Amino acid sequence: MTNAITTPAPAGTAWDPSIPTTTHGGCWVYPGRLVLAIPGREWPHQPATCPQPYDAPGEWIGSGADEALVCTGCGLDIT
Ligand SMILES: [Zn+2]
Repeated sequence: MTNAITTPAPAGTAWDPSIPTTTHGGCWVYPGRLVLAIPGREWPHQPATCPQPYDAPGEWIGSGADEALVCTGCGLDIT
């Protein structure tokens, strides 16, 4: 099974399919959600060990139709 990317990545960024996103801080993650790779920026955590609650306020990246909400701990798509 492949991860279906549901939304385009914001301009200048890319969804990184190499980072495992099956769990977030021990919780199940809806398939297809990926970590956003932003040039020049490194997320402090991997999704599996991220200490941020899944429903914590994220950070909006991009604008308009390409806007994506990501976890500030690991960059996981929480749009
Ligand atoms: Zn996270």
